[in-house]
Amino acid sequence: MRRKFIAGNWKMNGDQELVRQIAERAADSAGEAELAVCPPYPLLPAAASQLPFGVALGAQDVSEYDSGAYTGEVSASMLLEAGCRYVIVGHSERRTLYAEDNARVAGKFQAARQAGLIPILCVGETLAERDAQRTEAVVGEQLSAVFDAVDGAAFQGAVIAYEPVWAIGTGRTATPEQAQAVHAFIRGRVAERDGQDVADSLQILYGGSMKPDNAGELLAQPDIDGGLIGGASLDPEGFLSIYNAAAEG
Ligand code: PEP
Repeated sequence: MRRKFIAGNWKMNGDQELVRQIAERAADSAGEAELAVCPPYPLLPAAASQLPFGVALGAQDVSEYDSGAYTGEVSASMLLEAGCRYVIVGHSERRTLYAEDNARVAGKFQAARQAGLIPILCVGETLAERDAQRTEAVVGEQLSAVFDAVDGAAFQGAVIAYEPVWAIGTGRTATPEQAQAVHAFIRGRVAERDGQDVADSLQILYGGSMKPDNAGELLAQPDIDGGLIGGASLDPEGFLSIYNAAAEG
């Protein structure tokens, strides 16, 4: 049985006060599910010192390089030292606004794993790709890039987030059936390459306008193991109520 996992992606939002509020509320909601927050880099130290035991810290991006002349970049070992357990790689905003292609995302995934971080690989299709019935082709290519870059079981101990681009920050959520179908496809692909045991233990999160009022039905799907929450993670009460839905489910 996979544990449910709720992670908050603050994007370029938040401040010390939000760290304080989340830390305070999270202390009251220890449950069966895993919980993580991914604030912007400058808030990592405050979050690392204030989050209660059991709430994990994640970053939103990582360099594919270990060190060197890469102005503005942050390496996986630096994130580990800052107290991170997770790092998001390949978020659609990185792919579209910063031109990160599948090969670069795979390099970041590999760098995270090698340093001992757990990568949360984001995959997902645009609306045009869904309308052209290319969802599986697009998500399949995003997974293949990681399979090509990593020897052995690429997704052993990793997390995948299926985030349809048309649902991110739009208020438009995939139906539970749409999301479940893609999650099952992803698990099947991982089973083919990494084996059934890795696929069965892999946490596959849904992301895209998940909110307190739609979390329950999404999380009830057999292959939806949690959520990567953007906008709703900035509201401590709403975020923790999504977490509680996962912990009770
Ligand atoms: C995200 O950015 O990962 C995300 C899922 O955003 P939102 O919940 O705001 O759609």
